Amino acid sequence: MIYYSFQDTYEEMVPIGKIICLIRSYRKHAEEMGSDPTDSPLFFLKPASAVIFSGDSIVIPPQSHCLHHEIEVGVVVGKRGKNIPRTSALDHILGYVIGLDITARDIQDEAKKHGLPWSIAKGFDTFAPLSEVVLKERISTPNDLDFSLEINGVLRQKGNTRFLLWSIERIISDISDCMTLEPGDLILTGTPEGVGKLQKGDSLRAELSHLVELSVDVA
Ligand code: MG
Repeated sequence: MIYYSFQDTYEEMVPIGKIICLIRSYRKHAEEMGSDPTDSPLFFLKPASAVIFSGDSIVIPPQSHCLHHEIEVGVVVGKRGKNIPRTSALDHILGYVIGLDITARDIQDEAKKHGLPWSIAKGFDTFAPLSEVVLKERISTPNDLDFSLEINGVLRQKGNTRFLLWSIERIISDISDCMTLEPGDLILTGTPEGVGKLQKGDSLRAELSHLVELSVDVA
């Protein structure tokens, strides 16, 4: 089992559960991928075994020649729920992370072409770098959070959750209409525009609202 690390002292050990990753949740990213934004949140699952933390390295698997970075705000679930109403959705949040949805874009493009699942393109070990958890009490609203990604000191992606196509309340509610959300589950809310290729030796620094940072490199 892999456990979250917390920015502040937190008494409980929280294992990382299922990782639910939104797709096409920012209009400009959908456009850069040649896709239309969808009417309601769509998602896939990433395994917890893909998680790494600051100081660790993203490993390029031999099966891929094109890893892309996707910076994403993550919502950590703190309370179990099914069919959660939007009005109480925020009660189910424990905190937030800044994370990366690392993607083997060449494998994903091939899978898309043949209508095959994406798990292989998204699920390799080290493909889910996560920061420490910022407890929700430190953030007034999840719907106006700045975040950014620098690679080798150059700004490569930046966004704000107010540009998400749906509110965090709607996202939590909609996902819970499909699957029960449990403490330790993580919702990666999708990436804004500016995704691009990673090179061996790259140094990545992601940041959420001046509250928490994530630093990893590419081995
Ligand atoms: Mg993504």
